Amino acid sequence: MLELEGVSARYGATPALFDVSLRVGEGEVVALAGRNGMGKTTTIRAILGLVERSGTIRFAGEMIAQAAPHRIARLGIGLVPEGRLVFPTLTVRENLIATARPGAWTVEAVFALFPRLAERQRQSARTLSGGEQQMLAIGRALLTNPRLLILDEATEGLAPRVRAEIWSVLAQLKSQGLSILVVDKDVAALAALADRFVVLQKGRVAWVGDGASLVANAKLLHGMLGV
Ligand code: ATP
Repeated sequence: MLELEGVSARYGATPALFDVSLRVGEGEVVALAGRNGMGKTTTIRAILGLVERSGTIRFAGEMIAQAAPHRIARLGIGLVPEGRLVFPTLTVRENLIATARPGAWTVEAVFALFPRLAERQRQSARTLSGGEQQMLAIGRALLTNPRLLILDEATEGLAPRVRAEIWSVLAQLKSQGLSILVVDKDVAALAALADRFVVLQKGRVAWVGDGASLVANAKLLHGMLGV
């Protein structure tokens, strides 16, 4: 589904990613982990064409390392960005349909997934709690009917109950066969969901393996994730 090979990225003269390779197979969930500033967001920006990058990036059989962001998104990547970035003055329903594309995901299907959003569909997004805004950001991404969903900080800053709801929704999406690349700090929750971890350190891939091996490795957890 998604494959990066030897991808580097820079902000002007400042390099931020070095020779990153990773893959997300069809229906797989891959966790992108690492301490703050190690390059997780930059990896996502490189995939989406939002930062200057080089190397090979393949998505759904197409080479996208030279493609423009709007074209990459249209190939079927749905993004839940860090900080959610919902449109504050639009209603919940308007946020959902603003970037919707035809497919199995409809507004009603998103409301079934997040009943809370159905209750608040006529409210402007700025009146929502952080958790509700995150549900809206996920719903908005699903309504683009993506083949790959990317979440940058899936549950950051949210109350425990909302976090649990979001992890359960992600598990549901995985069981429906959606491919997911997810960044979060909750290693235990990620380990329960992800098929594989890719750990970044200073812009390079430092470790790849499954959640059980990561959780069992205290040195790795502490050294690379600060847990
Ligand atoms: P966080 O969880 O804090 O977002 P991250 O792992 O996502 O961390 P990145 O945001 O990808 O890390 O940052 C990787 C490196 O690139 C850092 O050294 C950061 O300072 C630098 N960087 C990020 N954004 C920019 C920018 N717009 N201009 C210059 N340097 C940047």
